[in-house]
Amino acid sequence: MSGHPYGAINPPVVRSSTFSYPNAAEGARRFQVAGGAAGEPGLFYSRMDNPTVAALEAHLAKLEGGEACVATASGMGAIFAALMGHLKPGSRVVADPCVYGCTHTLLDKLAKWGVQVTRCDTSDPAALKAAIGKKVDVVFIETPMNPTLRLVDLKQAAKMTHAAGGLLMVDNTFCTPVAQKPLALGADLVVHSLTKGINGHSDLLAGAVIGSAKLVRGAWDWRKDAGAVLDADTAWHVLRGAQTLEVRVTRSNANALAVAKALAGEGITVSHPLLPSHPDHALAKTQMPEGCCVLTLDLESESAAHRFLDRLKLVARAVSLGGYESLASHPWSTTHSALPEPARRAAGITPGLIRLSCGIEPLEALLSDILGALQRRPAMRMNAKVAPKKMEPRLVAKK
Ligand code: PLP
Repeated sequence: MSGHPYGAINPPVVRSSTFSYPNAAEGARRFQVAGGAAGEPGLFYSRMDNPTVAALEAHLAKLEGGEACVATASGMGAIFAALMGHLKPGSRVVADPCVYGCTHTLLDKLAKWGVQVTRCDTSDPAALKAAIGKKVDVVFIETPMNPTLRLVDLKQAAKMTHAAGGLLMVDNTFCTPVAQKPLALGADLVVHSLTKGINGHSDLLAGAVIGSAKLVRGAWDWRKDAGAVLDADTAWHVLRGAQTLEVRVTRSNANALAVAKALAGEGITVSHPLLPSHPDHALAKTQMPEGCCVLTLDLESESAAHRFLDRLKLVARAVSLGGYESLASHPWSTTHSALPEPARRAAGITPGLIRLSCGIEPLEALLSDILGALQRRPAMRMNAKVAPKKMEPRLVAKK
C-alpha cells in the first residue's frame, strides 16, 4: 500500500497556503504542536508545515538516516537556517576557506553580526584541531570541497567537534546519500542543495536540513521566520527526482571516474577522489567509495580554461552540478569570483581550474566532446562495458 489517498503511488500536491480547523480549541492546539513532528497534527499555514513538503522531508530523512528534515527554498536557505538555528552573537564557527562561494560570503556576513568565524584547512586534522580549540559552537564541513575536491575525515572531525562541545554540520550536496552518509559517521546535521543531485534535473531550486528532531527544530524556526520555505509543487518535483537518485548518481559517478581516468591517461592534470593520485584517495575509498560526479581539470591558465569551455559542444557551459546533463564551469571567474584573489588561491582555486559535473550521457559522447575541447584525439580506450554501443540522439545533439 502506498499510504497516499486513493492508493495513489505518489503523494498529492496540497496547494493550500492555509488550513481550516474544526473548532477554535483545535486551532489553539495546532499552534502549540506546530514544528514538532512536522505533519498533519500541526497543520495551519504552509510557511510552517505543508503535507507535500512533509512527504519530501520524510523521504529525505530516511535517505540520510536522520530522524527529521526541514526542506527549504534553496540550498543556501538550508545552510542559513541550519547555522542561524544554532548560532548567536559571540558563537564560534570553524569552516574551510574552500567551501561553496555563497557559503563563504554568508559566513563573512555572519561575522559582521558578531559570530566569530575561524577558517582553516579542514582536510588537515592538525589544522582542524587547532582551529576548533577548547570550545566551538559549529564546525561546517564540505567533503568533497567545492571545487578542490579535498576530503575531510568525518569520523575524526565529529570526535574533535564534540570534544569541544560543538555541532558538526556537513554539506553533503556533492556526494548525496548514495555515496556518503555523514550522520552515520558522527555528523549532527546534514545540509543539501536539493537543486543538485537529489532533484537531478536542473529545473528547480531547493534545500534541506536533516538530523535529530531536536536539532532540526532550530532550522524549522528560521525557515518560518525568514520565509525560506519550499512550496508544495517544488517539493513534489524534488520527490519525483529523488525516486531515481540511485540510478542517476551511480551512472554519473561511473562517467566521472571514467573521464578522470581517461584524462589522466592523456597527461592532463585531473583530480577525482577515486584516482590513486588524489591526496585523500585512501579516505575516499572508505568514506565515499561510490565516488562523486564531479572532477576537476587544471589547465595552464585562465585563457586556456576559457578556450576549453568555448570548444565544448555537448557539455554545457554552466555552473551547478548533479543534473542528468554534464556541465563545465570555471570557478575562478564565476562561482568563486567574489573572493579576493589571495583568498581564492588560499582555497586552492587556480585560474586554470575547470569543474566538470558529469551527467548520464553515453560515456563515448562525453569523452569525445571533452577530448575534442582539449584538442586531443578522442581516445577510444574506454571500458566497452561502460560505454553504450549506440549513442542516444537526444543526448548527443549538438547545441
Ligand atoms: N552547497 C554546495 C556544495 C553547492 O555547490 C551549492 C550551489 O552550487 C549550494 C550549497 C547552494 O545551493 P543552492 O544554489 O540550491 O542555494
